[in-house]
Amino acid sequence: MALYDVVIIGAGPAGMTAAIYAARANMSVLLLEKLAPGGQIINTHEIQNYTGVGTINGAELAYKMFEHTQELQVTFDYGTVKDIKEEGNIKIITCEEEKIFEAKTVILATGTIPRRLGVENEDRFAGENISWCAICDGAYYRDKDVVVIGGGNSAVEEAIYLASLANSVKVVTLFDLTADPVSCDELRALPNVTIYEFYNIEGFTGVEKLQGVRIKSTQTQEELELTCDGVFEYIGLKPSTEAFAALGILDEQGYIKVNSRMETSVAGIYGAGDVVTKELRQVVTACSDGAVAAQVASKYIKTI
Ligand SMILES: Cc1cc2nc3c(=O)[nH]c(=O)nc-3n(C[C@H](O)[C@H](O)[C@H](O)COP(=O)(O)OP(=O)(O)OC[C@H]3O[C@@H](n4cnc5c(N)ncnc54)[C@H](O)[C@@H]3O)c2cc1C
Repeated sequence: MALYDVVIIGAGPAGMTAAIYAARANMSVLLLEKLAPGGQIINTHEIQNYTGVGTINGAELAYKMFEHTQELQVTFDYGTVKDIKEEGNIKIITCEEEKIFEAKTVILATGTIPRRLGVENEDRFAGENISWCAICDGAYYRDKDVVVIGGGNSAVEEAIYLASLANSVKVVTLFDLTADPVSCDELRALPNVTIYEFYNIEGFTGVEKLQGVRIKSTQTQEELELTCDGVFEYIGLKPSTEAFAALGILDEQGYIKVNSRMETSVAGIYGAGDVVTKELRQVVTACSDGAVAAQVASKYIKTI
């Protein structure tokens, strides 16, 4: 079995950037991905904030990143990693498909999955008029009407941002607002924001395109349909880290704990991108993490 200098798990922006830096550091690289290369940006209509690129379709950017890895002869393979074990300095990576790989170092770049409501028509409009990223997609709703779902910090902060663009913002939350009081006060004071507290989401309406959100009061059982052009869901993110729990490198929320060198508490195992504990989950920060992780991994293999 080939022993790779580095196996990178997840071919999103973090993993692909790590692969580019590792290949350019003369490491033998295996990039493993359970779906198509690209990560979350494949499902993003447009990326408008990646330095130097201007506006680009997410799938096109993903393709360019993958093409870049292939120009550097990075080995790519499909596999859903389910386990990593250590044997001395060697890491044994096992996939659900029964593939097994060996590596001196591993970069974990498996990203996050937005939590979904699981209600009627959600899958149908996801990625079209239901989004999980106001920074990314908010500009499409300039002077239009949007619904924000959630009452925590992300929901409230993104609702404040969306209110600066959209005609109206309706915030629907299952309880009352739980974000910090200053942000809640700021949101409540905005003239184009209406807050629906203690409402459950029943489903989404629309035939060709999204038309509205059906909600029901948990206190009075009142049912309403909120007409809107777009919906932003902020009911939490879920890191894709089930396979790494046994390594003891996760925080309470399941994110990978790393230092500024992207090192976990296990020597030779690094985290990069949305999957690590961090402030801002965007393409540019994922790429930065991947570059640092590969650079540090290349130095580490010279010490073992
Ligand atoms: C709708 C939407 C719009 C967005 N718009 C923007 C934007 O405009 N600008 C911006 O900068 N950011 C945007 N983002 C955020 C951006 O997509 C993420 O910050 C970025 O994709 C993170 O990259 P990553 O490589 O860390 O993770 P991901 O992109 O999540 O990639 C992780 C990869 O790992 C794979 N994987 C997971 N588990 C396993 C496993 N066990 N084995 C093998 N492979 C696995 C996944 O299939 C995935 O391909 C948006 C996000 C969303 C959801």
